[in-house]
Amino acid sequence: MPYFIRHNYRFIGRLILLLLLLAIYQFSTAQQVVKGYFMFPINPGQKNFLSANMGELRPNHFHAGIDVKTGFSTGLPVYAAQDGYISRVRISSYGYGNTLYITHPNGLVTVYAHLDHFNPVIKSYALNFQYQNQTFEMDEYVPANLIKIKKGEIIGKSGNSGSSGGPHLHFEIRDSLENVLNPLSFGFSEIRDNLAPIIQKIAVRPLSIDSRVQQEYALKEWIAQKKSDGTYQIPGVIEASGSIGIELKVTDRMNETSNLYGVNCIELFVNGEEIFYHNIESFSFDESKYINVHIDYAHLVSSRQRLERCYVADGNRLSTYKKIKNRGRLTISPGETKQIEIRVYDAYGNKSILKCIIKGVEANKDHIYSSSTLSSGSTVDENVLRMACKAEPDEKATLYLKGKSLVLAPAYRIQLMNVYLYDLRKGLPDSVQCFNYKEAFNFVATIPPGRNVTVEHKTLTLSFADTTLFDTLYLQVKTDVIAQNHEIFEICSPATPVFGKISVRYCPQDKATETEKCYIYSVNDNSSHKFEGGEWNEDNILYDIKYLGKFAIRRDTIPPQIKTKKILPTRIEFSAFDSQSGIKSFRAELNGKWLLMNYDHKTARLWSETKIPGEKIQGTLTLEVIDKSLNTTTVTVTIP
Ligand SMILES: [Zn+2]
Repeated sequence: MPYFIRHNYRFIGRLILLLLLLAIYQFSTAQQVVKGYFMFPINPGQKNFLSANMGELRPNHFHAGIDVKTGFSTGLPVYAAQDGYISRVRISSYGYGNTLYITHPNGLVTVYAHLDHFNPVIKSYALNFQYQNQTFEMDEYVPANLIKIKKGEIIGKSGNSGSSGGPHLHFEIRDSLENVLNPLSFGFSEIRDNLAPIIQKIAVRPLSIDSRVQQEYALKEWIAQKKSDGTYQIPGVIEASGSIGIELKVTDRMNETSNLYGVNCIELFVNGEEIFYHNIESFSFDESKYINVHIDYAHLVSSRQRLERCYVADGNRLSTYKKIKNRGRLTISPGETKQIEIRVYDAYGNKSILKCIIKGVEANKDHIYSSSTLSSGSTVDENVLRMACKAEPDEKATLYLKGKSLVLAPAYRIQLMNVYLYDLRKGLPDSVQCFNYKEAFNFVATIPPGRNVTVEHKTLTLSFADTTLFDTLYLQVKTDVIAQNHEIFEICSPATPVFGKISVRYCPQDKATETEKCYIYSVNDNSSHKFEGGEWNEDNILYDIKYLGKFAIRRDTIPPQIKTKKILPTRIEFSAFDSQSGIKSFRAELNGKWLLMNYDHKTARLWSETKIPGEKIQGTLTLEVIDKSLNTTTVTVTIP
């Protein structure tokens, strides 16, 4: 048998195996979603309401479960959804707070987060661990069947622990591979929803340098209008040319509550053909960060609104897209008309439809009428550098690239402003000049995604891992800036999302900078600061940043404040607060022995808990609180 045939057989064999595995996986996932298998974990059998559903768009992630309202109070019994055993116990002042995981006989895991407290058996397991390891925070995988649980057994009481914005129960269902499944597909009669999603806006984005939307190279939005038959429309026609992508602002409602939720599924049809399908019914935690390319991140940063893309952005590897044609993008030529139909579904199959028409028009280089206001300056959008400035019609701009110059004609004109477009793949320009407008761009390098790249620029060294970037990054770096007596460095704009971390090494320009208690802080637009961290290595501070933008080196010498709040026979309560870098750690001792302090960062409260419940506290209690800049405050209380 010729080699290539054998080779092909092997290939076909592998393909069949792969398809078989895929079929088994899909079958098993489908089989696992059995309606009625789980009981509702809170107020079972009664009407319940959600404050959030699965897949909702959150900062850097999709919401992984449902948030069940608990009537603004804590302390409601939380029931095990099915027989099983406690497989993981987590306690933290942040994130999920007090959380229990139950593994069930079918391999699925249910998760109950933000609990106020655990039932006595689980509590005693947690207390033992905390005292043995002298830690408040814990995240422990519990051996199988050590703590067996019956369906309907109370595992704890609902609360508001962790980074919870109000009392509720966060409930998740995961498969054995840690993919989250939509709890609402398990058919809980406690939640009713026969209301269709609300389509609020449609937006269209040009996706190449010669694309235009309403004659501009800019994202344009339209408010959706609801017609009497319940469908949505965009009055008039949308004018565009070239490669474009459609984006959507959409939300969902449920019966008898005013809360707004995320939608489950979005489909896009162009002239009757489906080109995009997204369904957030199941996803893995590893891919949750792709939300930053699923949504229009630049629009989120500029307007605080989340538009969901109905096309697949570069570097987006979410597994929730199907039936994708041309990555959901459409190309429109002058004279062409495209009938757009968008269907949006919630988890209960309630559907809303939006229809609109996109008309292909010739790009107009002359003065265009637009209500948009442009400010002078540049933005980087995909591979395109867009520069706008006040100038005479037809006035040309000069780009300077490494000693060469390039003359650019205006791409179009709005009111008194000319807009110039330049494809950054042709080389990174140093600066631009046009009439009174001058700008230096501070481009340093072009960083491709999927590679390990280190860039040194003056006092800053940046290392990109192969997992750092979604897409090509046109790296702009600004150093040597002093603001409010702090050294600042700037890396691109916060409007560009990154998937992974960038390792930063910064050497302060001011060699007199004492490294002690100096760390990296991120700087917001309104020049507020947030502690990031860092580690000094001689003259350099090292830190992994998770987003782009402005950073400052700041010193914090102010120690935390501690106040004694309550002295009760079995419980001592403090408040602890740090104004600059925030609280890093705390430690209490009672007569020289470690004492558990519970911590809630939202209320700044710390309270003691003895190993034996109800044990009296007597003697000398010292509490030491350390902030992230390593300033320490210690208080001592004597309890008679
Ligand atoms: Zn939640």
